[in-house]
Amino acid sequence: MLNLLAIVLKKLVFPTARCFLKQSSTVIATLKANELPAQVDILASIDINQLLSVGIRGVILDLDNTIVSEDDRYLSPYAEAWIGQAKDLGIKFFFLSNGKRHHRVEYWSSYLDIPASSPAKKPFPRAFRKAMRYMQLSPREVVIIGDSRHTDILGAWLVSCSSIQVASLPHPPRWWERLLGKYVQKPYPSDQKPWAFQPSSYHYGNP
Ligand SMILES: [Mg+2]
Repeated sequence: MLNLLAIVLKKLVFPTARCFLKQSSTVIATLKANELPAQVDILASIDINQLLSVGIRGVILDLDNTIVSEDDRYLSPYAEAWIGQAKDLGIKFFFLSNGKRHHRVEYWSSYLDIPASSPAKKPFPRAFRKAMRYMQLSPREVVIIGDSRHTDILGAWLVSCSSIQVASLPHPPRWWERLLGKYVQKPYPSDQKPWAFQPSSYHYGNP
């Protein structure tokens, strides 16, 4: 009788419990990821310890208007230090940029020592999946950080990653941004001064 009970436990109860625990841990991971802020002003205001506490081990990072403005006039304050600190705590990074000016992406990739891919054709999932494969991380371990809802944030949703939208660094608006920018970007706060940046041939070489 005891033997039969042991078999029933082994065949039915344990797998069910295992399945339940597995599902519970997925639910807990999702709930924890939901604790992350949906939006912040600048990259450096994101709490690295909070990322770690919800199981984030990798960041897929946008470049244009997130780290450096499209027209190369501004930098996101303290971004370089924040990235260095996050790396020291074991967080991996990957740049995905929709930009077509390779020399810029290559410069920032090399300067910050972050692998990059461009043009990434965000929000399509392909490049996001490639970045996750490169980092050897699953979607629940990755947060996608960028300034555009229709590329970075939508892409994160499509590949089941968490996301944080940063305010767009000031830049000359394109025609469609004049019409739709307020729906897809967070305006840069007036009380947070962006850092000035003046690229030279030293920065971008001779494309
Ligand atoms: Mg951007």
